[in-house]
Amino acid sequence: MKYYKAEEEIFELELKEYPFFCKFCKKEKAIIEIPSQKVKVCKNCYNTFFENRIKKTIEKYKMLKPQDKVGVFLSGGKDSSTLLIVLKKLYPDINLQAIFLNLGIRYYSEKVENLVKNLCQNLNVPLYIYNLPQKEGYRIDDFVFTHFKNKICSACGAIKRYLFSKIAKELKLTVIATGHHLDDIVSTMLTLFFQGDFSGIAKLEPVLQPFFPNQAKKIKPLYTTPEKEIFYYIVLNEIPVGNFTCPHAEITPSKKIKKILTDLEKENRQIKYQLLSVFTKKLIPLIKSHPAYKEEKSLNICIKCGEITSASDNICSRCKKVELLNKIEDKALELNYEEFEDFVKNLDSNWVLIDLKEKEHLLNESSKKLIKFFKPYRNKYIFLVSSDPEIGYLFALKLRKKRFKAYSIIKIPEKEYLEFHNREDL
Ligand code: SF4
Repeated sequence: MKYYKAEEEIFELELKEYPFFCKFCKKEKAIIEIPSQKVKVCKNCYNTFFENRIKKTIEKYKMLKPQDKVGVFLSGGKDSSTLLIVLKKLYPDINLQAIFLNLGIRYYSEKVENLVKNLCQNLNVPLYIYNLPQKEGYRIDDFVFTHFKNKICSACGAIKRYLFSKIAKELKLTVIATGHHLDDIVSTMLTLFFQGDFSGIAKLEPVLQPFFPNQAKKIKPLYTTPEKEIFYYIVLNEIPVGNFTCPHAEITPSKKIKKILTDLEKENRQIKYQLLSVFTKKLIPLIKSHPAYKEEKSLNICIKCGEITSASDNICSRCKKVELLNKIEDKALELNYEEFEDFVKNLDSNWVLIDLKEKEHLLNESSKKLIKFFKPYRNKYIFLVSSDPEIGYLFALKLRKKRFKAYSIIKIPEKEYLEFHNREDL
């Protein structure tokens, strides 16, 4: 099985029976290697090792109390799914609540929602779904019409942080457990270090206590679990996770550092644990003892939504971003045939209709190639047709990010298509 993330293949695993016994139990045939330990073990021993390490982390940092109500925000990916499964297995009696944020990302959020519903049903964990377009009237995709078009994850992050806090209060969660693993933590620590954001590093502790009473504390039970071992757990236990990527996923500085760390790991298997230890035992205590860190803690209440903010104008980052969306009148990216006909009536010849057949590969090409291909139409309205509406939509999204006036037409009857004089058979 291969695993793809942000168009990059990260991990691959093919299970095979080794001609020797498991290093731990010495009874079953070994079928998998624990990458961080370089030992080959059987399925049961892999699972026990994997789950015990999470248990030890939870106990070491006193993450959970029996009376806690623990929320897990599911993304449909391997990390949050594994977290929910292992928490349920280790603590069958704890009050677990799964939450899914449907962010209205076309052709993505719905698929993930179905996956998450199945997972929770199988685990018998209650699931709360927050549908952003239905509740708040906008989608994450809408940021493509703002100056956040090329950093949608940053806008999405602000919206999600707000929702974590709001939903935690609504559901009376005392704890929010997140799926951040060892690779996430160490790569983020290094990224923040290079950016000089020391207070950001201090927030990467395994437990983040609430700033105010009645707020949920945040815990990271996968703090010491390498990402690769989570992937192996998923494959070994045939856990269904989405092998589809959010169309806005970006190659962030932290992802680049993650790659560098993975290369360094080939020389030094313990590099990530060593860095984690230096950061948590040496650097974070130093940062927290500095007077400037203590001063930074002044927090206010957002005058618009009532959530906590560090903004000096008392308007939180999420509310500023939503305000941007409120100013946009036309948020259309996808038109049906009637809407398209109406639209082009007033455009004279300043538009072009492009069939995407046999051009799907451009979606995986570099932005440069995409821009070069569509450059002749830079000043025109571009209407895209494809037999697969998802392809049309993904093209429209990508082109909008590059400032083209692109729309996807959901379905165009063939007879009408052939009659359009603005058609370009590229
Ligand atoms: Fe949001 Fe970015 Fe994650 Fe997509 S990849 S869900 S836009 S943070």
